[in-house]
Amino acid sequence: KRLILIGPPGSGKGTQSPIIKDEYCLCHLATGDMLRAAVAAKTPLGVKAKEAMDKGELVSDDLVVGIIDEALQKPSCQKGFILDGFPRTVVQAQKLDEMLEKKGAKVDKVLNFAVDDLILEERITGRWIHPASGRSYHTKFAPPKVPGVDDVTGEPLIQRKDDTAAVLKSRLEAFHKQTEPVIDYYSKKSIVANLHAEKPPKEVTAEVQKVLS
Ligand code: ADP
Ligand code: ADP
Repeated sequence: KRLILIGPPGSGKGTQSPIIKDEYCLCHLATGDMLRAAVAAKTPLGVKAKEAMDKGELVSDDLVVGIIDEALQKPSCQKGFILDGFPRTVVQAQKLDEMLEKKGAKVDKVLNFAVDDLILEERITGRWIHPASGRSYHTKFAPPKVPGVDDVTGEPLIQRKDDTAAVLKSRLEAFHKQTEPVIDYYSKKSIVANLHAEKPPKEVTAEVQKVLS
């Protein structure tokens, strides 16, 4: 299956995607994780992306479309994929359709992580991540076994620089202005499944499994 996860920052996309990946054995591409890795490694791409990311604004369409175009060539991504955090603009969605058309493929389903803005600040400011894997934890809702330490590798967890209440405001603004129209774009193709993403993680997982079964 070719799947897209759309939702505001903190809606649970990153939390649900490993579960979907394990079950359907797909390639998982999270543009935010890929961009953060590029920023950390100070690659030319990372240098160009950093300023927008720090401010909570979107990185330019050309940069992210380039990353996805390259990643989708991987053998592991030929039969299906999960795109987590892409497309975030209608232009990105159109470019993705063009890329897939060339291969005679199309997006099968868009999972819309619908949740009220009001609960996101608590989720975002309590988030801790394991940068190498993208795994996320939460001090209150999904605590690691040992505080500050990744359950799987034992490596330290970090807080993202943009996970502050102030930067969240700009990220939410970008979501409503630029990304919500993407949901309409796919609604017209009748492939959007709306999830109740404010429910506890296990209940959201059950909804995801129902949609994909
Ligand atoms: P979140 O966890 O808030 O959904 P991500 O980790 O997906 O955030 O993205 C972090 C930042 O990376 C965004 O605020 C944005 O600056 C940049 N980014 C990620 N994906 C895209 C995209 N598809 N288009 C433009 N910018 C992106
Ligand atoms: P996104 O990838 O959409 O930005 P994450 O999956 O990283 O969101 O989730 C944001 C934070 O909220 C994380 O700290 C995560 O542990 C926590 N979280 C994820 N899903 C839920 C949920 N259904 N209920 C409560 N907290 C959640």
